[in-house]
Amino acid sequence: MKHPENAESSAPFSLDDTPLARELADLTARRRILEDVTVQLSGRTRVITVSNQKGGVGKTTTTVNLAAALASVGARVLVVDLDPQGNASTALGVPHTAEIPSIYDVLIDDFPLADIIQTSPESPNLLCAPSTIHLAGAEIELVSQVAREHRLRTAVDEYLANLDERLDFVLIDCPPSLGLLTINAFAAAHELLIPIQCEYYALEGLSQLLGTVGMIQKHLNPTLRLSTIVLTMYDGRTRLAQQVAEEVRQHFPKEVLGTVIPRSVRVSEAPSFGQTVIAYDGQSAGAVAYREAAVEIVRRENADTAANAGAGVAVKEEGP
Ligand code: ADP
Ligand code: MG
Repeated sequence: MKHPENAESSAPFSLDDTPLARELADLTARRRILEDVTVQLSGRTRVITVSNQKGGVGKTTTTVNLAAALASVGARVLVVDLDPQGNASTALGVPHTAEIPSIYDVLIDDFPLADIIQTSPESPNLLCAPSTIHLAGAEIELVSQVAREHRLRTAVDEYLANLDERLDFVLIDCPPSLGLLTINAFAAAHELLIPIQCEYYALEGLSQLLGTVGMIQKHLNPTLRLSTIVLTMYDGRTRLAQQVAEEVRQHFPKEVLGTVIPRSVRVSEAPSFGQTVIAYDGQSAGAVAYREAAVEIVRRENADTAANAGAGVAVKEEGP
């Protein structure tokens, strides 16, 4: 009975006052709030890079599920898959075999971004610039290119300048390194979103990441800011996860989202069906959390923008 979504009612005692029962009741209440949610989008395109040089912390999972959750509340979202593994493309159900035009062609051969973008079968609001195996060589090939740090930025700017329809979000999924691909992502974005896994070494490596961001701000992109930290794969039953979450919140009180993403079987299963968890099981605990995170991300910007005062999300403030 690890997760409310997998709960069985076979316990030989009343469930009403158990932690599980409370969790289930809580999840039901949260689903209900989400049913009535409406969000007011700013009309501006927010370009957000999802990065952490550690592998396996939930970058790709967060990118695709947030993107799908944003799309489900009416946002138009483009996911740029900048990881040669192409996991984001897979999760969005977008073909990305070697012969398919991809983000590699944009970075190395100056293809317009518009030419390689595909629509996810999940939603007409969900677009993807896929990555293929060719991107594995790009880290080396970029070294000798002109304006090698700005290739993605130039492509994104050109794409946004020539859009027919509005686009609310560009989410860039980074590889697990601080090489030229990630630097291109930093140079192209307004915001940095860092997923942090609630485990022992969570904060290790973060100072290196923030140091790199500082250098980017100084030399390549002064508008980049760390806007959002998402705590991922949270297991509230362990004291360690609680401690790590508390510690991260102490360091980054403004950046950490109130919503915490729980460790959830449904979240890890979804990609094998070429789906996000929003499409795979939108009522599961993991999907509910990503939908809440999406609402929070929209609402935070509205709260930040004086002109948009009062135009946030019509749901109550929720804790983690
Ligand atoms: P990264 O992109 O940072 O390398 P991934 O998003 O690929 O990390 O996640 C690493 C692994 O953890 C994947 O197998 C993914 O399915 C799993 N995972 C991520 N988030 C969760 C979650 N909330 N619950 C369960 N498994 C998760
Ligand atoms: Mg990844």
